[in-house]
Amino acid sequence: MGDLKTLNLLLFYGEEESFFSSRRQQVMQGKSFMLCSALFRNLGGIISDLLLSGKMSAADEVESALHRFYLEVNGSDEITDRPLSVKEMNFNILHLINGCNPGPDVRGMVSFCSEVLSLYGLIVTWLDPREVASGHLIAKQWLGDASNDFFFKKRCRQLRSSPTAVSGRFALVHDSPGILPLCWAELLNALQHEQKVSVCPYCHNIYRFPINNYQKLTCGQPTCRKAQLIHKHGGIEGYRAWEAERKKNSGGKRGRPRKTSSET
Ligand SMILES: [Zn+2]
Repeated sequence: MGDLKTLNLLLFYGEEESFFSSRRQQVMQGKSFMLCSALFRNLGGIISDLLLSGKMSAADEVESALHRFYLEVNGSDEITDRPLSVKEMNFNILHLINGCNPGPDVRGMVSFCSEVLSLYGLIVTWLDPREVASGHLIAKQWLGDASNDFFFKKRCRQLRSSPTAVSGRFALVHDSPGILPLCWAELLNALQHEQKVSVCPYCHNIYRFPINNYQKLTCGQPTCRKAQLIHKHGGIEGYRAWEAERKKNSGGKRGRPRKTSSET
């Protein structure tokens, strides 16, 4: 039994998740991958840079992003998880971020960064049904390797899981003194329910695919849809030209224009 001050609970009930942090004394409710989305939102810049340039941001930057994540979900910016020892790792992920020799990692930031990337990579590899996920190809190639489930296995062992019932329906509750094992519990739950999801390349929130429609390119928020259209039209200039043409064709009618297939 963990110290009550640092007990965190994550309850899966149908499609809903409830997260309770004893530190914050508050329940957070949401759809699936609430915690992973918060993690990826806060470390989004670091993940994108890493996938683009192959280099890890400075340890200070990783550490402040982690502090922001813990503050958001836990109400306190203390990093309550310990980094996992990656000494025995000689996987793609370490080659990617730091060459084969991770070097001294006093504060564990290389380990945390590898773990977050590994989680990201396994989500897009295992749960994104698209052959080549837009923007996630590198993640799939580099991070989706089976050997990278190192962190998955280690963190799952830190979870205590108890089946229970809520209003007569099956529910599963996981508890952990830290938050990161609960992020991995979200992946575990998605695997159990064969969910199809991906990570929005713009805001880094995780989104579900509608049943039998795996074309969705973003989470669907207006800002992310617009960013995707700008990307599709080769930049802001191309987007403006397309927008002007579209308005002309719609005869200046107000309202949402007809959807194009790539806009979803
Ligand atoms: Zn988004």
